[in-house]
Amino acid sequence: MGELRKDPVVDRWVIIDPQRVERGALFQMEEPAGRVEKPCPFCQGSEGETPSEIFVLGEPGRKPNDKGWWVRVIPDKNPILRIEGGLERRAEGMFDLMNAVGAHEIVIETPDHYGDWSSLEDVQMRRILETYRARSLDLRNDRRFRQVMVVKNHGRAVSLFEHPHSHIVAFPVVPKGIEEEIQGVISYYRRKERCVFCDILKEELRMGRRSIFESRGFLAFAPFASRFPFETWILPKRHSPDFGEIKGEEIADLARTLKATMGMAFQTLANLSCSLIMHTGPLHEYSRPEYHWHMEIVPRLSKVAGFEWGTGFFVNPIPPEEAAARLKGERTSV
Ligand SMILES: [Zn+2]
Ligand SMILES: [Zn+2]
Ligand SMILES: [Zn+2]
Repeated sequence: MGELRKDPVVDRWVIIDPQRVERGALFQMEEPAGRVEKPCPFCQGSEGETPSEIFVLGEPGRKPNDKGWWVRVIPDKNPILRIEGGLERRAEGMFDLMNAVGAHEIVIETPDHYGDWSSLEDVQMRRILETYRARSLDLRNDRRFRQVMVVKNHGRAVSLFEHPHSHIVAFPVVPKGIEEEIQGVISYYRRKERCVFCDILKEELRMGRRSIFESRGFLAFAPFASRFPFETWILPKRHSPDFGEIKGEEIADLARTLKATMGMAFQTLANLSCSLIMHTGPLHEYSRPEYHWHMEIVPRLSKVAGFEWGTGFFVNPIPPEEAAARLKGERTSV
């Protein structure tokens, strides 16, 4: 089993796992194994080739692990965190570590091998979001977990499987990126007694230059200090720290917002690869009412250069105002 080790300088947890399948490719200095296209284990009719399902939305009367599903959740065959066992928090000299225990699930988003988030029907997009909510609510019953995250990778650059899918991961620690946002939210709140994300939302709605799509409950926009070309955030207008508390009508609004936003991205950027990450608050005693959940979409257009990796300082050649204009199909002067 892998280990979670904490960097004592910046309190960042890292998974060290010598059993990872990507290990082999490291020594050969070659591309990882080819992408899985067809035959595809996620297609309808291949249910027997995947681990047994954990959760499913499908036709009434359907038998488990059979056809007739709309959305299907299975354990990842190559999980970054394993569900079995205790955390066994311990010290090694001055260092902290624990077992890499957690949950790693795959959401097979549609039986349609070639479906993408811009072309799925509204009802299917809602089912995917309902699945995220259901898994988020269920995983928090396991008191070992402090954070549930949803990550969707789309496109050749970021995903091994062509079939539309996403990952749900439950962590026994709060990931550094979320912890940093929480610290920022709390410090802004102390100074202004307001939520920084609610303020951003008001400002972007008022100004409009960086907004990409607005629905009743959500705003998609290019953030002021975008790190990446065409980086997009989707914020709920209602302040809530926890995606798990999303209401039915908000799911419908978010489904529309995601479809429209991804549609614009696919139209503007040919062969787009991107990652979509759900940033939601930690669970139980680690949750903070000041936090404001949201989604971040990061297109993978250029490889992040050594400079960015080494310094944490991003250089973005596309101003977010231009990104928003291009996504909306407006003429730009560039
Ligand atoms: Zn498939
Ligand atoms: Zn807020
Ligand atoms: Zn965030």
